[in-house]
Amino acid sequence: MNVYDSEQISKGLKLLQYKMTLSPEMADLIIVNTCAIREKAEQKVFSFLGRLARLKRKKPDLILGVGGCVAQQEGLNMLERVPYLDLVFGTHAISRLPGMIERIEAKKCRIVDVEMPEGIDESVFSVDTDDRDRVTSFVTIMQGCDNYCTYCVVPFVRGREASRSPEKIVGEIRSLVESGIKEVTLLGQNVNSFGKKEGLCSFPELLSLINEIDGLLRIRFTTSHPKDLSDDLIYAFKNLDKLCSHIHLPVQSGSDRVLKRMNRKYSRDYYLAKVDKLRNICPEIAITSDFIVGFPGETEDDFNETIDLINTLQYDDIFAFKYSDRPNVPSALFRHKISEQEKKDRLIELLKSQEYYTKKRNEVLVGSTQPILVEGLSKRQLKTEENSENIQWTGRTSTNKIVNFIPNNDTSFHGGNFSGRIINVRIEKALSHSLQGDTNL
Ligand code: SAH
Ligand code: SF4
Repeated sequence: MNVYDSEQISKGLKLLQYKMTLSPEMADLIIVNTCAIREKAEQKVFSFLGRLARLKRKKPDLILGVGGCVAQQEGLNMLERVPYLDLVFGTHAISRLPGMIERIEAKKCRIVDVEMPEGIDESVFSVDTDDRDRVTSFVTIMQGCDNYCTYCVVPFVRGREASRSPEKIVGEIRSLVESGIKEVTLLGQNVNSFGKKEGLCSFPELLSLINEIDGLLRIRFTTSHPKDLSDDLIYAFKNLDKLCSHIHLPVQSGSDRVLKRMNRKYSRDYYLAKVDKLRNICPEIAITSDFIVGFPGETEDDFNETIDLINTLQYDDIFAFKYSDRPNVPSALFRHKISEQEKKDRLIELLKSQEYYTKKRNEVLVGSTQPILVEGLSKRQLKTEENSENIQWTGRTSTNKIVNFIPNNDTSFHGGNFSGRIINVRIEKALSHSLQGDTNL
C-alpha cells in the first residue's frame, strides 16, 4: 500500500515538473513516505529524518516533507520534533500535495494537513500512461479498515473502511492495460468486505468484472481477512481464469486464547476449515500468512500452538513479526508483556519451523513446467555490465514464486523482449526464495 501511495505522490509531483533524482543530495524536494505499523518502522523514520538534517543545512531551500501513517499519527508534533520539516501530510492528503508544495515554494511556509474526511477521494487515483516499462501494477480498491484488531494502528491512521466504485476500478484497470500493464494486484486491508458498507457489488463479483478485461493476463489481491472469506471467493480461484492461485490469509496466531484477545473474530478450527476448503477446491493454490509473536500474555503453550499450526498447514511462505505496542491501540494497555529477548527467540523458532516448508513447496515444482509472466531482466542481470548471450529474465508463477531463467536459443525467443509475456518455463532448481528454470521444454 505504501508503494502504491509513493507512486501517487510522485505522479502528483510530476504535475509540478519535478523529476526523480538519483540521490537525496541532488534533490530540491524530498518526501519521506512512512509506515507506522510497528515501532521499528517508526524509529526508522526519525533516524532517516535525522540524517537529512545535514542536507537541509547545506541547502536551506530544500523542501522536506513527511507523508503516510507516521505523519497521520503525529501531525503537528512532527513539526516540533523535527524543526527543519516544511510539510507533514497524512494518508488522506495525497491529492492535495501539489497545491501544498506550490504554497511552500511561494511563501516559504510550513504546512500540516492530516485531515481524514470520510469516504473515498477519487482524485488521487490516476494512471501514469508515460510509465510503459512496467508489467504489473497495484490498484487500490478500498481504503481504511473497520476491524480494530487490538494490536493494530491501521484503523487510526488510515481511517474508516471505504470502497471505490467498481466502474472506477474497472476504468482504471482498462487504462493501465492500454498503457501496457498485464497484471494487477488489488489492494485493501480486507478485500473480502469490499462494497459491503456501500451496498456495491461483492468482492468475487468485482473479480468477475475484472476477469473480463481484454488484454489483462493476471489478477492478484491482498489482503483477505479469514473471518470474511466466502465460498464465492474460494470458488473464484477455480472459475476465474485470470485469478492467480495464491492467497495471503494472515492468521496471526494458532492459539484461540490469543486470537480472541487480538479481536480477530475467528477460531483456529474455523481457519483450518477455510484452508481445507481452499485446497480442496483449488489444489494448486499457494497459501501465505502473517504471524505476530509475543502478543501480550502469549504463553509457551500458546506459542506452541502457533508452531503446531505451521506444521499442520505447511504454508508456502510466511511473514512474522515481533509484537510491538502502538499508540492508542487497546493491546498497548494489556498486561503480561513479553520480554524483547523472549519475542526474539520465538520469532527465530517460528521462522525456522517455516523455512523447511518454504523450501519443500519450492522443491515439489522441480521438473514441472510453469507458465511464467515475465516481469523483466533478473536482478543478477541488471547488476552485470556484460552483454552476454545468456540473458537472464525473471517472472512469477501463478502461485507467486519468483522464477529466474535463461531462454534457449530457439529463434522465436532469441534476442526478443520477454517482458509482459506468459511463457512456459521448466523448473530446474529450487533455492530457498526463488526457482531457476529454462525454456528447453
Ligand atoms: N490488513 C491486514 C494486515 C495489515 S498490517 C490483515 O489484517 O491481515 C500487516 C501485518 O503487520 C499484520 O498482518 C500483522 O501481522 C502485523 N502487525 C500489525 N500490527 C502489529 C503490531 N502492533 N506489532 C507487530 N506486528 C503487527
Ligand atoms: Fe489491522 Fe486488523 Fe484491519 Fe488488518 S484487519 S488492518 S490487522 S485492524
